[in-house]
Amino acid sequence: MTDPTSRDMTSRKLRAVGTTIFTEMTALARRTGAVNLGQGFPDTDGPPAMLAAAQRAIASGLNQYPPLDGLPELREAIARQRLQRYGQDAGDILVTAGATEAVAAALIGLCDPGDEVVVFEPYYDSYRANLAMAGAVRRPVQLGGEGEAFAFDPDELRAAITPRTKLILLNSPHNPTGKVFTRAELSLIAELCVAHDLIAVTDEVYEYLVYDGLAHIPLATLPGMADRTLTISSAGKTFSATGWKIGWACGPANLVSATRTAKQFLTFASGTPLQAAVAVGLDEELGWVAALRDDMQQRRDRLGAALVGMGARVYPCEGTYFLQIDARSLGYDDGVKLCHDLAHKAGVVAIPAQVFFDDADAGRRYVRFAFCKSDAVLDEGIGRLSKFSS
Ligand SMILES: *Cc1c(COP(=O)(O)O)cnc(C)c1O
Repeated sequence: MTDPTSRDMTSRKLRAVGTTIFTEMTALARRTGAVNLGQGFPDTDGPPAMLAAAQRAIASGLNQYPPLDGLPELREAIARQRLQRYGQDAGDILVTAGATEAVAAALIGLCDPGDEVVVFEPYYDSYRANLAMAGAVRRPVQLGGEGEAFAFDPDELRAAITPRTKLILLNSPHNPTGKVFTRAELSLIAELCVAHDLIAVTDEVYEYLVYDGLAHIPLATLPGMADRTLTISSAGKTFSATGWKIGWACGPANLVSATRTAKQFLTFASGTPLQAAVAVGLDEELGWVAALRDDMQQRRDRLGAALVGMGARVYPCEGTYFLQIDARSLGYDDGVKLCHDLAHKAGVVAIPAQVFFDDADAGRRYVRFAFCKSDAVLDEGIGRLSKFSS
């Protein structure tokens, strides 16, 4: 008899999903003592007034289940933020356990098995697992890295839409490329959604981390899109509080309702005192967020200069926490091999961005670095990179 504990018991549905790369690379960083420029979380805290508000909320007894839709004061703060910043009527608002749960609940709640979802590749790794959970079929459209920016081919997008397409899943500002979709690109996506009667689900968790004076434009604010877009964002990246997992989905009642149906049986609701604190953050701490953005832009420039100094081809980064390089510019065909050597020879962990691709060949050359780190960590990483030679 074979040992029953040696069998892979993962369902066929999820077998291809595997372990997230971040767990692997963070473990590698721990094991080797490397500087972790892999996973995208900041190592400095969010606005003190927001942290204090969370402590007050706990002390005042806000420690039981919040309403399924989230605390009213947070939903009202989100509505004000969407309106003031973007002129967007948020519609219905559902607070979630981070943007991660919002995306999962939206895909599970909106898609039937066999429905197709168009998604720009590379894409955030939880999408693949969520699409598998929903039984939906991925239809990737490439963001090519050969030109100056990560553009997509409009004909490839048109060709990806079939009679089975249910929705387009859009992440802008985009992880891992750092791309911010332009108004022209968003207009084309909007036109196709309207022409083919598609839903859009947008992941806007980096909505405030946009550099060089560029603007983040929510797809929901384009003509024809308010009635067919579910907008998702989160406090994690905006307020450097990724461990809080307070996110939200907003939009027309029917899209929020489908999302809520799934969400109520995933977590039901979570994070009551943190929800109260994020309401304070959105209402009072957006000045802090603007300073964070300026600071991140400088970090991007410092890390970018160090990578250029190493001889790397660095791709343009307009937003997010991330810079990508072309491993070939350092003499590597494969980003995995470069990441392995960086960890063991230089003591720096980065992420081989091929994990964000369906087609690993298309992504083989990309390596992603996170610059959302404290001066001490970033300086140590930069110092180690400067001594790396392949
Ligand atoms: C970090 C990240 C998330 C996760 O957001 P949480 O609010 O922490 O769940 C979702 N999407 C993208 C693109 C991210 O980079």
